[in-house]
Formats: sequence, structure tokens, C-alpha cells
Amino acid sequence: MRIAVLKETAPGETRVAVTPETVKKFMGLGAVVAVEQGAGQTASITDAAYSDAGAELGPAEQVLKGADIVLGVQAPDPGALARVKPGAMVAATFDPFGNRARVDAYASAGLEALSMEFMPRITRAQSMDVLSSQSNLAGYKAVIAAADTYGRAFPMMMTAAGTVQAARVFVMGVGVAGLQAIATAKRLGAQVSATDVRSATKEQIHSLGAKPIFVESVAGIEGEGSGGYATEMSEEYQKAQAELVSGHIAKQDIVITTALIPGRAAPRLISDAQVASMKPGSVIFDLAVAQGGNVEGSVADEVVEKHGVKIIGYANTPAMLAADASALFARNLFNFLSAFWDKDAGTVTLDDEIGDAVRLTRGGAVVNERLQG
Ligand code: NAD
Repeated sequence: MRIAVLKETAPGETRVAVTPETVKKFMGLGAVVAVEQGAGQTASITDAAYSDAGAELGPAEQVLKGADIVLGVQAPDPGALARVKPGAMVAATFDPFGNRARVDAYASAGLEALSMEFMPRITRAQSMDVLSSQSNLAGYKAVIAAADTYGRAFPMMMTAAGTVQAARVFVMGVGVAGLQAIATAKRLGAQVSATDVRSATKEQIHSLGAKPIFVESVAGIEGEGSGGYATEMSEEYQKAQAELVSGHIAKQDIVITTALIPGRAAPRLISDAQVASMKPGSVIFDLAVAQGGNVEGSVADEVVEKHGVKIIGYANTPAMLAADASALFARNLFNFLSAFWDKDAGTVTLDDEIGDAVRLTRGGAVVNERLQG
């Protein structure tokens, strides 16, 4: 089996889909791993480190020639994959809802597109889940970037010149990114509170030593849909949430928003009026900016200032931690493929549960249920 890995071409993408560690692991399964020269540069991995691990290095055309599997962080343009084997597998993130044209192009090219974002949320797939591994780093980095932008300190400090108050940090959306944001802000000494629509998160917020802020007055709220994801909430709930949050937000120094609903635009959690209610110098980090944003006025890849409040909107936060993000992403890909690897036959055969979930295209057609209709 020949595995090809290209240098990522999307603007701002610094990650790479294999590391020397996973090159060795794939070779242990009998694979040949070919890596485009310079692919690891932005993640601090040299070509020499790849060749020392046993990878073949070369220009893209050479790397792709006869490949059975292509690995990517963001799926390459299928037009660039003309030299791979017919029907080759491409495992990467595809943004299937946001970039349907690329999915269709993969179908037309006869490739088997495997979308890592569609990994099912089942226990055995946890080690294959790139959304979790990357969100975890994003939650950490959002707090670090907000702390860096904030013109005051996070921890309370008692000095001879007087006391510096602890920063108040509010985390909205307590999934993988939000939990890490809470933990990071706590470690920096902030006073942390958090909210989510899934009531199961209340306990998790408590266990991290933060204060849960929840809508209690609307009956029948569970907020949890299939696979542990959030569902879209009723108008009544949204109104109650907006009122609760309005009072709370005005007292916060830092707000980190992480709320997502799969396949839909991110829910709007903070209005311009709520931004205006915050103290000048406060900072908001909108981790959902690439999905439309949780915060009115946030702009992808910009820090905008509104009413004296800085709103940070990096579209690809994991790429700011390229080395760690690549290491985890690469392990997710290895854990995924190795689970279905037949060393003797030299084939990868996905089972139905995971295969049906992640496979977008095969045999010239779009085959994923979530993309029908
Ligand atoms: P996500 O990225 O889809 O969303 C982030 C958070 O935003 C979620 O907690 C969601 O409930 C919340 N949210 C959505 N709308 C909101 C609103 N209007 N207001 C406030 N919050 C809102 O979520 P995620 O990080 O992927 O995690 C979701 C759950 O799935 C977690 O419990 C996580 O532990 C679980 N999970 C399980 C697996 C697995 O078993 N393999 C893998 C990953 C995550």
C-alpha cells in the first residue's frame, strides 16, 4: 500500500497529516509512505526527520504516483490527484456541508473520499476523532490568545502596590473546546463561569471548579441530540438564554464562544448590544467564526474592535499550534486506518458502522446519507 501526503495548500493551514512517528507506524503495517518535500515545514518537521523515519520524499507528482491512500488535513483539490490509483482513498477533512462542490468533484474523479469530520461519536472511534483532538487544542489556544490580547492580568495578584483583580472568564458552549477553555482559564487563575444547552455539561463545569450559568425556567430542556451533539433550541429557550446571558455578560472581561450545531450555521449567542454592555478592554474569542460565528460582528481571521471590546475570530485556531495539532491529527488518521488494515492482503476495508458514516463518495457517486436530499 502506498500512502501519499502532500503539503497543505489552504491559506493559513500549517498542519501536516503525517509525522515521523506515524510514518514509522504505517511502515510497520507494510506501507510505503511518500511525503511531498517541505510538507512538514510549517509544523516544525524537517524533510530529514521524515526520511530518517523511512519516508520517501519528492515533489507532489512523484509522491502521488500510484498512491492507494492520500492523507490530508484539509482535502486537496481532486484535480491535483490525477496520478493516484483509480478509486484511491483520500482521508482528510472535507467540510462536506460547507464545500459540497468539492465532494461532487471527488465523486466525478472516482475517488473514495473519507471525511474525518463525520467520524461517529462512539467509544471505539474516540482515538480517530479529529474534531475532538483539534477542538481541545483550539479551546486552549483561544484562552491563551485572549489573555495575550487582554490588557490586564488573569490571576488575582496581591502586591505591595495594591491588588490586581482576577479576570472573569465566561465560556459559552461546553463541548471539547469549551471544557479545555475552562480548564486553561482556571489554570491561569481566572474566575470562570460557563453555559451550554446540554444540561449534562453542568456537572462537568462544576467538576472543573467553574460556575454553571443555566436557563432553568424553560420546561423540557435537554438540548442533547444524537451522538451527544446539541440540537437547535426552541424560540422560548433562546429568549430565556439571551436574557440570562445579557445580565451575566456585562460583568465579564473575557468571553470564549464555542457553540456549534452540526450541519447548520453556528447559533448566534452574543448580539452587538451585548458586546456594547461589556467593559472597554474586554475580549471575546469566537471559535465558531468559520461556521458563521456566535458573535455579531466577528470576522474570520481578524481582531475587530467594537464598543471598546476586541473580538478575535481566527478561522483555523488549531493551525496556531501546528506541531501539536499535527501530531494528534496524524495519530487520529493512523488509528483510523490501522483499525481496518489487513497486513497480509495489503488492503483497508472499513466496517459498516464507521465506513458508512465517513465515506462521502465511491464508485463515481456521492454515497453519504447525510448529503442526500
Ligand atoms: P460541538 O463542537 O458540536 O459544540 C460545542 C458545544 O456547543 C457543545 O457542547 C454544544 O452543546 C454547545 N452548544 C450548541 N448550541 C449552543 C447554544 N445555543 N448555547 C450554548 N451552547 C451551545 O460539540 P463537541 O465539542 O463536539 O462535543 C459534544 C459532546 O460530544 C461532548 O459531550 C463530547 O464529550 C462528546 N464527544 C464524544 C465523542 C466520542 O464518544 N467519540 C467524541 C467527541 C465528542
